[in-house]
Amino acid sequence: MGAKDTGPSPVSRSVAESGIGTPHRDQDTRFHNTFGNSRTGVALIDLEGAFMDVNHALCEFVGYSKRALRATTLQALTHPDDLEADLALRRMLTEEISSYQTEGRFIHADGYPVWGLWCVSTVCDDGRPAGFLCQVHDISKLKQMQAELIHQTLHDPLTGLPNRSLFIDRLTVALARLERSSNDVAVLFMDLDRFKRVNDSMGHAAGDRLLRAVATRLKESVRPGDSPARIGGDEFTILCEDVRGEAGAIAIAGRITEAMAQPFALDEGDVFSNASVGVAVAKQGDATDPEALIRDADAAMYHAKEKGKGRYELFSPAMHVRSSNRLGNDNALHRAIERGELRLFYQPEIRLETGRIVAAEALLRWAHPEKGLLEPDAFIPTAEEIGLILPIGDWVLGEACRQAARWAESTDKAMVVSVNISARQLPHSELVYTIRDAINESSIEPSHLFLEITESAMMEDADSAISALATLHSLGVGLSVDDFGTGYSSFNYIKTLDVDSLKIHRDFVAGVTRDPGDLAIVRAIITLAKSLGLKVVAEGVETAEQMSAIRALGCDLAQGHYFAPPQPADQISELLERHPHW
Ligand code: C2E
Ligand code: MG
Ligand code: MG
Repeated sequence: MGAKDTGPSPVSRSVAESGIGTPHRDQDTRFHNTFGNSRTGVALIDLEGAFMDVNHALCEFVGYSKRALRATTLQALTHPDDLEADLALRRMLTEEISSYQTEGRFIHADGYPVWGLWCVSTVCDDGRPAGFLCQVHDISKLKQMQAELIHQTLHDPLTGLPNRSLFIDRLTVALARLERSSNDVAVLFMDLDRFKRVNDSMGHAAGDRLLRAVATRLKESVRPGDSPARIGGDEFTILCEDVRGEAGAIAIAGRITEAMAQPFALDEGDVFSNASVGVAVAKQGDATDPEALIRDADAAMYHAKEKGKGRYELFSPAMHVRSSNRLGNDNALHRAIERGELRLFYQPEIRLETGRIVAAEALLRWAHPEKGLLEPDAFIPTAEEIGLILPIGDWVLGEACRQAARWAESTDKAMVVSVNISARQLPHSELVYTIRDAINESSIEPSHLFLEITESAMMEDADSAISALATLHSLGVGLSVDDFGTGYSSFNYIKTLDVDSLKIHRDFVAGVTRDPGDLAIVRAIITLAKSLGLKVVAEGVETAEQMSAIRALGCDLAQGHYFAPPQPADQISELLERHPHW
């Protein structure tokens, strides 16, 4: 870097007027003999701060030629924020101090600041201060390293976003400022809905890329003054100052969930990862601390996840009550997933025309450490209530597809595997990705997976069920209406539902040989199904008579203890090897 000759405008005051006197050749030579080779920048300045003499190292440091420097003052080169050094000079003049050391910035000839450690001492002439000797060590690199270190301790290395501790600092300041503001402060807590799945199935590098892409999109979807942070694996928080009430915070949360719903283009292809967002707002006069506000937003986020993911929820105090109950009662079920206590049993389905096994329904069991093998009725309602049905349902889908793949490999004819889907899973946009991933990861044919959804689940919110079923169907999987006849479907809806089969509830099947009413219902269901082009499955077949009766009515498939009870997969495999025929 060469020293420039153009510099700050020359000081108007003549050098002769300065306290140190006109520099003459002797003094010049002495200065250069002493400091010329020094690698420390050295300057002799007069009492007003004008440069009398400078060495080469100082010229290099600030990028000016000697001539340019001699025409200016220390103050003119000093960064405006560091001018208090000038005050120290004045204190030296009054002989309060005879030397001082400080860190400060010069403005380099190219316009950027350079950091120096200045050591200034008074130069006396006849016992009176006549000027100053100023030595400047270049500490720009040190300062840069310092700044990087500080940045590193306050930011997340992966996304470059502020980390939890910087977020809390900023929130603390924002809450303190709230006392003087008529606007509110909001904390948004965002958690990705599918991060673990992406990480597990596509690898950590893809997971990292997704997190970076999420951070970028998050920055784009908030307002310029809002500060997003990454506070954990796939958890982000956003501090929004100056929001106008809950409505203002909700508007931001809406924008974020919408932005996150768009696919992320990674090297591996498009990845969908919705985000759930919880919103907590602090108003003037609220005695809230940063940790409490974050905890509220977190509780609201959890609520958003329970309600169907990919959405936002505003915090309400009732959420805390619920989350503490949830933790107390339901730890065992949480642990069941973590400890691998869930099992899938399978029950064969027989094609009545051929008498052969063509499919199996996956039925969940919990191998409880104390209570033994539990049937779904004992724990699925709780799992649905507390939102655990989502991770459980994910596990069931993954496991059932893996088992279907094993059977496809070990038997000559691939078996269709049916999986029960809870009403609580249905509204989640997540479900379609879970199913797609389960199919891809096990490499089964989509048509070898059937989903069973109860009639009442479909009718709970029929309009959205119709669109959810259409999306599921587009994956190529089969769909059945389970427990048909026990709910209240209108014929109109059955016509519009995009399904492949109806499963007649076992109560009707049980009565088919002894109760004319049941027989009439079973016959009506089969006739209805045929006319709509749907297949019919009879469940709960317990006797040879029941089998003959439904076979005579034209029922397509049957399932029940008469053929085989639900049992572990390896027992089904043994059964298949015997090629049973009914
Ligand atoms: P479902 O889908 O209607 O399953 C058929 C039920 O009938 C099973 O009860 C099965 O064991 C029972 N069953 C089979 N053959 C006979 C028979 O000959 N006679 C009688 N009386 N019953 C028979 P299970 O395994 O107790 O499951 C009960 C319900 O729990 C299932 O009804 C299904 O709605 C639900 N379920 C099971 N596994 C899952 C799951 O993985 N996810 C969800 N969401 N629900 C599940
Ligand atoms: Mg079922
Ligand atoms: Mg059923």
